Order: sequence, then C-alpha cells, then structure tokens
Amino acid sequence: MQRREFVKACAAGVVGVTTGSLSALEKLDELPSAERLPALFVGHGSPLNAIEENAFTKEWFELGKTLPTPKAILCISAHWLTRGETRVTAMKKPRTIHDFGGFPKKLFEQEYPAPGSPELAQQTVELVQKTHVKKDNEWGLDHGTWSVLLPMFPKAQFPVVQLSIDYGKPMQYHFDLAREIRKLREKGVLIVGSGNLVHNLRELKMGAAAFDYSIEFEQKMLEAIRAENFQAVVDYASLGEVAKKAHPTPDHFIPLLYSLAVREKGEELATFNEAFDMGSISMTSFTIGAEKRTAGAKPKTEKPDPGGKEN
Ligand code: ZN
Repeated sequence: MQRREFVKACAAGVVGVTTGSLSALEKLDELPSAERLPALFVGHGSPLNAIEENAFTKEWFELGKTLPTPKAILCISAHWLTRGETRVTAMKKPRTIHDFGGFPKKLFEQEYPAPGSPELAQQTVELVQKTHVKKDNEWGLDHGTWSVLLPMFPKAQFPVVQLSIDYGKPMQYHFDLAREIRKLREKGVLIVGSGNLVHNLRELKMGAAAFDYSIEFEQKMLEAIRAENFQAVVDYASLGEVAKKAHPTPDHFIPLLYSLAVREKGEELATFNEAFDMGSISMTSFTIGAEKRTAGAKPKTEKPDPGGKEN
C-alpha cells in the first residue's frame, strides 16, 4: 500500500490507527530522511566467530568502524524460523540467546546487551502489508545476529530488532516481504541479513578446501547478483542438485533474499570475506550502498575445532 493509500485507508477505518495520534508509520514519515543507510548480507559461519579474532571478524570490525552510524539495526537471522507467521522482536531489552551446543563455556557466557526498539518493531508491523507481522516479546537476539554484531559493534550501543523468517513460505514471498521494509533504510535503520551463501553442515570438514559444489553454487549466485538478476537468486532451487548440496535446507539462504530485496536500483554491491570455511560454508558477504571496500579475508585453512555445531 502506498503512503497515500495508507492514509486513505486509515481515514476510512480500514487500518486500525488511534484517531488523533500519529501511528508509528506516520511518525516514521515525519522523521527527516537521513542519509540512506547501507544494507548488509553477512555470512556468519561458526558461532565461535563471535569471540574469535580471525580474518572474517576483523572485516566485521573494520566495517563497523566505516559504516554510517545507524539509529537502529534490523536483522534477519537464519536462526529465527517461525511457521505460519512473521514476528518482530518488540521488547526493550532483548536477551542474548545461546542457540548452539558443544562450544566453550566462554561463548555461553558472552552477552550482547544491545537495547531493543519497540518503536522500530511497530514501524515494521505497519510497513509490512503482505502479512500481519506479530510483535514478539519472547525471542531476543540469536547467534545469527549477535555473533556478527559483537565484532562489528562491540559496544552494543545501537538498538537491535530481529524479524523472523516464516519458514514454510516460498522464496518469492520472502523477497516481496523484504521489499516492503526497504524504506527503513532511509530512516537510519541498518538492515542486516545473516546467513551463508553456501551452508551444508552435514558435509563440513575441518581444514577442507571448498568443495566443488560450494564453488559452483556460489559462482552462479554471485553472477546473478552482479547482473542484478535477483529472480535467478529467488529461483535458486531450479539449479537442481548443486542447490540441494549447497543448501540441504533453505534457512541460511533466505536472509540473502532479504538483503537483496532492500537494494535500490543502481546501488553498489560490494563483496567482502569471499572465502569458504570447512569446505561447505561460504563466508562471502556484501555491502549494499556502502563505500567500496577493497580488503577481503583470505580463505582460512586452519581453525580450532569448535567441537560442536550450531543448531
Ligand atoms: Zn548459522
């Protein structure tokens, strides 16, 4: 629904808004348009990246220093899957969720005490017309979000909100839903998709070089992304076997669709951390609408055995 239609609908009582006070969406429109914030897709990989200093986390840290200051962060993480509904965290103080097993105690003790933003949650609810996004007071920040934000913004000073993935929905649904939230970028919100371009936990092997299917799938996706053929990304499953190998389940792929969908025409898309980890995890990430980055992480061949896996 366009802004004018939305206002008309409000006047006609189609959209429930308290008369006499501005809705969160109207308040959003009243805000001066900040410089449009970049958007990110981040390959998060192992939860240990939260507390390890390595080539990947070094890039995240550097990125955090060069990005414009966000008013808030909206993260779509591969680790918050809901069924039949989309939720948005609406609490003032989201908890840090340690949603993994078998990792060192230090990782379980790590907190990311960023505040929430009930306002941003409400704005998200009002922006999305595709479905009724439900406000959530139970989730928090899962490791798809905080393992990336901790190295990127170690002070946890920016409010963070998570948007869930309605897991049963087709890829096109996610892309279309994400188009509806892109306006938040103009109001100072940093939108972050956190997943992996290739993610096959069943086949990962410590110290392994990238598997053939990992390389093939990533190349096909990057070609499509660079050609701005996002439909080919939405339709990734049509690649058949290589797509199934790269993503036995789509959870880590879907956040990529959210990041691509919030790109405005003509915005620069620059990759970083172009590397594979443990053969079947791609760490390749990109910025949208940010200043060009030239540094990139070198592929890792050695890494301490995490001794566990993410869930
Ligand atoms: Zn993950």
